[in-house]
Amino acid sequence: MAKLIVKKFGGTSVADVVRIEAVADNVEAEIKRGNKVTVVLSAMGKSTDELIQLAKSINPEPDLREYDALVSTGEQISVALLAMALLKRGIKGKSYTAYQLGIRTNASHARARILEVEVSKITSELNAGIVPVITGFQGMNDQGDITTLGRGGSDTTGVALAVALKADECQIYTDVDGVFTTDPRVYEKARLLKNVSFEEMLELSSSGAKVLQLRAVEYASKYSLPLRVLSSFNNGEGTLVQEEKNIMERPVVSGISSIDTEAKLTIRGVPDLPGIAAKILSPISDAEIEVDVIVQNISAENNTDFTFTVDINDAKQAQEILTETSKSLGGGSVEVDEDIAKISVVGRGMRAHAGVASKMFQALALNEINILMITTSEIKISVVIKKSEMARAVKSLHDTFDLDKELDT
Ligand code: ASP
Ligand code: MG
Repeated sequence: MAKLIVKKFGGTSVADVVRIEAVADNVEAEIKRGNKVTVVLSAMGKSTDELIQLAKSINPEPDLREYDALVSTGEQISVALLAMALLKRGIKGKSYTAYQLGIRTNASHARARILEVEVSKITSELNAGIVPVITGFQGMNDQGDITTLGRGGSDTTGVALAVALKADECQIYTDVDGVFTTDPRVYEKARLLKNVSFEEMLELSSSGAKVLQLRAVEYASKYSLPLRVLSSFNNGEGTLVQEEKNIMERPVVSGISSIDTEAKLTIRGVPDLPGIAAKILSPISDAEIEVDVIVQNISAENNTDFTFTVDINDAKQAQEILTETSKSLGGGSVEVDEDIAKISVVGRGMRAHAGVASKMFQALALNEINILMITTSEIKISVVIKKSEMARAVKSLHDTFDLDKELDT
């Protein structure tokens, strides 16, 4: 039976006309297989970065309505070019902006959330044998203004469209072969994963793996829409991100992610009283700074140290806020450490297996890697260590959990 497939291509996959022609070939091949295709595109190469630079050269903090009006233009270029390339092949490609289709979002410019996707137009185009080529990353708010979905937001457009169209599959094309056991640039023994569960992908994405926008994974997971991550440069099956119950194997550890773009902040000597964590973190979240790992030390003489990590770009602002908080609480010094990395070991099989943590800590100890912070979830154990030890930690853990070997189930 004919399938309906949403294909989303990222920036590197449409970086120049040669790549755009390759995308057109991909679509043509899919149609020849008898399937219906809807395409979602990112902007060409680094053009979104360039647009953001342009905006910032006028004003480092540009008006957000105008920021969105500007940065959404990148996608408009790529969709028109692909439609032309399809038409050249005798395929009825037709470009659409999110605005033309009515992809409705909430009001928050530069990181809008999709509320509703109107698909009647796309459906009738598909029925007429047309291949709709749709701008990723953008939408419109209630005012009729253009919004954008945050960096990497085309993934979310692809997923939202696939959900709304009840597509059989959403394929996310990128410049890597799929999701790996760890970043192949960090360790050459990294192995391509055939399957990964939504939950694992969420943990991996939020702790460093950049193949998919986190929000896109959340969206796909909410609607149980299978996502396939694959390369537009090489042939291959890529990685299927899907519901855990559909995956046969249960590896204890599926992957290791690493991230070295966080900073650690410590506030010393705050009174150890009920409500202290809220007093420290509320002003941080009021400033819309996302907090990741949190540790409160055991108190000595009714005073405690409180440590957490934030994105490195937010470190300065967080430090300023924390310094104020410390004054008002009668606390001590505030320290910032940017020389850190977070390593996370993720696996759906952890639920049924004890001992992963101790195996992980032993491996780090053998390598004389000092652990600064620890945090866990049901399927993840993360440690914060010194940045210079990141690659060594990833390699030793990858070896410890035999991630280079395929399970023989
Ligand atoms: N072009 C946008 C960006 O670079 C959206 C995307 O590529 O997903 O962030
Ligand atoms: Mg992307």
